[in-house]
Amino acid sequence: MPTHNYAVPPISYATYQPWTNWGGNQTCTPAFTVAPRDEQEVLDAVRFAIKQNLPVRAVGAGHSFTPIVTTGGMLINTDALTGVTDVDVARNRVRLRGGTRIKDIGDPLWERGLSLTNQGDIIEQSISGALATATHGSGIRQTSFSGRLRWARIVNGHGEIVEVGEDDLNKLLAAQVALGTLGIMTEVELEASPRYHLAEEVSYPHWDEIKANLADNVANLRHYSFLWCQTEESPALYELPCPEGLPMTNRAYQKIYREVEVTEPDGISTTPGARVDRSYRIYDMGGMTLPFHELEYYVPAERSLEAIEALQQLILTKYPNELYPIEVRWVGPEDGYLSPFYKRETNVLSVSGHPGTDYWPYLRDVDALLEDFDARQHWGKLHFLTRERIEKQYPEYDKFVAVRREFDPNGVFLNDSLRQLVG
Ligand SMILES: Cc1cc2nc3c(=O)[nH]c(=O)nc-3n(C[C@H](O)[C@H](O)[C@H](O)COP(=O)(O)OP(=O)(O)OC[C@H]3O[C@@H](n4cnc5c(N)ncnc54)[C@H](O)[C@@H]3O)c2cc1C
Repeated sequence: MPTHNYAVPPISYATYQPWTNWGGNQTCTPAFTVAPRDEQEVLDAVRFAIKQNLPVRAVGAGHSFTPIVTTGGMLINTDALTGVTDVDVARNRVRLRGGTRIKDIGDPLWERGLSLTNQGDIIEQSISGALATATHGSGIRQTSFSGRLRWARIVNGHGEIVEVGEDDLNKLLAAQVALGTLGIMTEVELEASPRYHLAEEVSYPHWDEIKANLADNVANLRHYSFLWCQTEESPALYELPCPEGLPMTNRAYQKIYREVEVTEPDGISTTPGARVDRSYRIYDMGGMTLPFHELEYYVPAERSLEAIEALQQLILTKYPNELYPIEVRWVGPEDGYLSPFYKRETNVLSVSGHPGTDYWPYLRDVDALLEDFDARQHWGKLHFLTRERIEKQYPEYDKFVAVRREFDPNGVFLNDSLRQLVG
């Protein structure tokens, strides 16, 4: 094992422990990895790092595809910072420790009469990791997790605990999507919703049918999304269950979730594709265990159809061997300075490359194509962002950078990639 010249952290640590993200495309070997058990240990760890001039990054579930976690300094594993700390039913508010996984929120919240207002396709992420990149589900009247953040406790780059809340909107809007650069979130408060049940309807429409109903479905459904398949091999790559014998080329795996009144246990159904259950049990679509490397771009919702068809044409004419489905979703406007949904109704387009293949020419062409649609990018998925592009896309970029510099003037929470983008 290599030796090092640093003093050692005041909490339990490992040295030079290699870290790899879920997708296997980001790795690093931090000098120290620590797993604080409470806020005081986070504070001790960060103060130690500041004293030793070590950069610090937090990791949640490691489900981002971008170099947003990597560090050679101190990696803070947030797995032990978990649990619901407070529920205010009258105000639909829930407080959670920063490392709480989304899969651990549903049950305790339901018991108190609340549910998360919307969720994405999987439930593995930590709440702070999801907030850091504006993780979202689908629904033009819904926001991302970030749009629901109302308060946070953060260990900042001065080695202090600070609170950010609705009394200081400038800081809150910076914290809503902060890429982990304001510091370590030890506790967060989300605006939730009174608990609700969902009924799932999975179907496999042909593209012509989707196109004919697109505008109505987007406007009227709580959750509307689909994964368009360019070939027969496409569904298996995302483990999408499809009816045997149904040709899937130019069809989609389509999901609709409607809010329904249900009496438990009689009203609950576990029939795949037609489940009726508590909201948090419906959102997790299962599957997605095979690795893929994903890019996700956001175009104005009014250009949805045009953008989807342009992407389909690019694949069919130039990249017939790129087989992953295109996932298509929608998100409503929000106000976070670095939210990719900043003040616009958004159509979400996700495409993936196969790990181990050279998918970069494909992804670069997708990037160039969607730039003409004024696209923004998922912070946690593959992109080609530069500072100049971010400045152009985000009207409040300067305000974000000013707050970041106030929280962390010496760039303790930056790595090379983030320094370039928001330093
Ligand atoms: C299979 C799969 C499915 C996905 N589905 C969706 C989806 O449906 N919708 C969607 O929008 N995205 C989706 N994503 C992307 C994913 O939600 C985001 O990349 C998210 O940020 C990952 O959360 P995480 O807990 O893994 O965070 P990580 O990837 O570990 O970290 C992300 C960022 O959060 C920071 N961070 C983590 N914890 C803290 C903390 N306590 N304080 C401060 N900063 C912190 C990290 O430093 C880093 O900057 C998916 C990804 C995968 C691999």
